Amino acid sequence: MGTKGRSIVGMDVDELLTMLNKAFADEWLAYYQYWLGAKVVKGPMKDAVAAELTLHATEELAHADLLALRIIQLGGTPLNSPAEWLKYTHCGYDAPSDPFVKVIVAQNIKGEQCAIDTYQKLLTVVKDADPVTYNLVLTILSQEVEHEEDLQALDEDLDSLMLRS
Ligand code: FE
Ligand code: FE
Ligand code: MG
Repeated sequence: MGTKGRSIVGMDVDELLTMLNKAFADEWLAYYQYWLGAKVVKGPMKDAVAAELTLHATEELAHADLLALRIIQLGGTPLNSPAEWLKYTHCGYDAPSDPFVKVIVAQNIKGEQCAIDTYQKLLTVVKDADPVTYNLVLTILSQEVEHEEDLQALDEDLDSLMLRS
């Protein structure tokens, strides 16, 4: 823990750590949901969709990495066990039990919209209190916004393809 770095945070650090750990849980679950979805997806354009899902999986894992490093910087502990992910998560986990491409894409759009909400709220909380976390959350939020648009664009392509066939 950086003691000076922690002391400049203008809010309750434990409260902030809990919020960061909740986001950390969300990122691991998002990673797994994308990773598995990419393996099981079936239907039109499945290769293109799988490639995008796989890329998003690696980006969610990178978000987990950023959050873990910030949690440690602030003297906290990233959640110790996968069992805790489901306890702390805000956005939850949608199992890709129906492999149809439209269903998988819709589940992940829902996940991204929840992530956008979560990070938008977190941004508001840290805005004047913690510029370092603000910067990190802004980076992640920008990527979640990109993810949502990627998936909605794919979903539109799927609709036009399926209407024509
Ligand atoms: Fe993410
Ligand atoms: Fe995302
Ligand atoms: Mg993308």
